[in-house]
Amino acid sequence: MLMDSSKLAVYPGSFDPVTNGHLDILERALKIFDRIIVMIGDNPNKNPFFSPSERIDMLNEAIKKQIKVKGVVEVEYFGGLLLNFLKKKNANIIVRGLRAVSDFEFEFQRALLNRKLDSTIETVFIMTKDEYSFLNSSIVKEISRFNGSVKGLVPINVEKELKNKLNGIK
Ligand code: ADP
Repeated sequence: MLMDSSKLAVYPGSFDPVTNGHLDILERALKIFDRIIVMIGDNPNKNPFFSPSERIDMLNEAIKKQIKVKGVVEVEYFGGLLLNFLKKKNANIIVRGLRAVSDFEFEFQRALLNRKLDSTIETVFIMTKDEYSFLNSSIVKEISRFNGSVKGLVPINVEKELKNKLNGIK
């Protein structure tokens, strides 16, 4: 079988909303892979704040404005199992970000589980910039709800969308 030699990886997550920590991982991943598909999924343990299409739009705009590294990035929502998405895309590499040791246990279990379900899958972990090590989407939503500033934590378009959503504009 003739294989496409360009290196493809899938970066899955809730991205509810995308933060500068997510973009940092994406930018680093683009130094390793030629093409990245960001898969927006729904974590069954979390209630999404933004709809899939809002999350897609915010990511696309942030990528256009902030990602400077060469490479192809596509953003898609998928409501099913990550492994099925990988199959559909003919991909076998998952990229995940690591913030702190506290992420490790969960991520380690996930990576081993995915490999058990499909032995061709590899999970690649990328370490975040230290200034984003405390950052996650939940914190961003919490700060916004109490009218705090999320400047520098999220892309500028996301700052605006958070305000609009909380003010009931959208
Ligand atoms: P999930 O609900 O699947 O964890 P998230 O949107 O919270 O989805 O995160 C998606 C991916 O991005 C995960 O691999 C997570 O570890 C990583 N990530 C999230 N925030 C940061 C950050 N501040 N720095 C580095 N990686 C991050």
